[in-house]
Amino acid sequence: MEADIARSLPDLALIVRRDGIVLSCLGGNAVRGLDAIEQQIPGSHINALWPESISGHVLQTVRRILKTRKPAQQRYQESELSLEMRFQVQGFDRVLIVCRDLGQGATSNDSGLYEKNAALGTSAMLPHRDGFEKSLRMALDMAALREDSVGVALIHIGGYITYKRVFDSALANKLLEAAAKVVAEHLPEGRSNVPRLARVSDDVIGVVLTDLRSRADADGAIGAIMKALKFPVEIDGQIFQLAPQAGVTLSGTDGERAVELIERALATLDAGRRQGEDRLVTFYSDTLRIASLTRLDWQQELTQAIQKDELELHYQPRLTLATREIVAVEALLRWNHKVRGLVPTSEFLPIAELSGLSVQLGRWVLRRACRDLAILAERGFPSMRVSVNVGRQYLSAESLAEDVASAAREAGIEPSLLDLEITEQMLSTGHSGLAALHQLRGKGVRVFIDDFGTGYVSLGKMRSSPLDGILIDRSFVEEVGHDHEARAVCRAAIALGHAFGLRIVAEGIETEAQAQFLVAEQCHEGQGHLFCPATPLANLIDRILVGAKDAPASVQRAAGR
Ligand code: MG
Ligand code: MG
Repeated sequence: MEADIARSLPDLALIVRRDGIVLSCLGGNAVRGLDAIEQQIPGSHINALWPESISGHVLQTVRRILKTRKPAQQRYQESELSLEMRFQVQGFDRVLIVCRDLGQGATSNDSGLYEKNAALGTSAMLPHRDGFEKSLRMALDMAALREDSVGVALIHIGGYITYKRVFDSALANKLLEAAAKVVAEHLPEGRSNVPRLARVSDDVIGVVLTDLRSRADADGAIGAIMKALKFPVEIDGQIFQLAPQAGVTLSGTDGERAVELIERALATLDAGRRQGEDRLVTFYSDTLRIASLTRLDWQQELTQAIQKDELELHYQPRLTLATREIVAVEALLRWNHKVRGLVPTSEFLPIAELSGLSVQLGRWVLRRACRDLAILAERGFPSMRVSVNVGRQYLSAESLAEDVASAAREAGIEPSLLDLEITEQMLSTGHSGLAALHQLRGKGVRVFIDDFGTGYVSLGKMRSSPLDGILIDRSFVEEVGHDHEARAVCRAAIALGHAFGLRIVAEGIETEAQAQFLVAEQCHEGQGHLFCPATPLANLIDRILVGAKDAPASVQRAAGR
């Protein structure tokens, strides 16, 4: 039974010694020219398996990789025979060779697929989705051997349906054949001769892109094809303009199985077509960014991001307005997803709240901010403060005070270098959290109200709360130039801050005029793009803080960078 299974495997696996003697072998059902000697392979020399021109090279490769200990792959061509072999060292002096017959299936015409350079004359030759799937599976197998990737491009030929309705289906089919011919001519040369072109539905041509090392490879290949398809085609002396659009998936990042890759390429094509005719190529990873994933997907991804440390903090400087000296930096969470790109906090923070991840997230931010404070101190900025935004759930969690203490201890920094930002709403509702804030202030941590002016904290509450400062919301600051009500709110907030003895910070300062107004109103500090946008820690230290140390005015110049 096991022997039957082993024999039925298409690829041939051999363990070969340095001297070329085959110690054992498995499978090889689809490798031609071996049947006659199947029983005698173990114990024989590889010379007996293939012609000298191949076996000589195989032996050379075996000896070479026993020296280098690095895997290798080779392709051999000998009259009718086309073989791909992968070599891998096994133990001290043995090599595993996996041999695949590329001729099998790859050159036969019964699959009903187009082949590059084949005559693309009649619709009888047009293939269908089953053949495409089979072909894709072969390409995926080969890519696994070579450790590269395969792409699926589904190209919709716009206009086909109209031509079919207005003229006749014969003309419409000729149009599609012409398009297929253009695609075949512009398909990059592949290392394998798997058929790579098929008609997967009435007006969609499927293309298997092989030998891909990166998304850029796929981009280049499909880009060239689409560019060629935009040229008018001539059929029976008449000129036609095609309107092609493509959806692309890549093995590895967008799916592993053939069916999966085709289905997703179809969905991607649809998403691209919904964006209008100008959208030539859409990659699956791009549509993911706009697609609304289920909460469970996000939750899972976010949990992983926290565990795998895929999140980062960017820092936006806060300055004393009168002197333009940087006194603190606000830590802002960034999630740069490897496929989706930068995920806005407005998308993932609500998910974190809903799924109970916000405490974990808050803890991660605290720990990272403390670690970065230690780095700042080490790089010559020992009194730089870091301001951390604390979410509602984290404030009510029992552990906040303890977490701050342990994060500071672990990083070896003073907790008094930390500012915490909470919202007005949290002040009016977060009873359990207030105790933690009192405790933390006892250790020198400062507490600020974020987005001040947008909530509804009572004056009584403000007076009795453990507070050190307020951050006036950017929506008022942005308008001070032309809105007298915004100016009035800013003035009132500043006056209130002074009355309570609080530190007053204005957020979102974008122009010099806004800064001047705030200085005149005796606002203490400010942050905003006028001075500097949020930036990664390394950039903050090397390009902003170091420059600002020498000449405070350079902070302004840094803003443009
Ligand atoms: Mg904030
Ligand atoms: Mg804010």
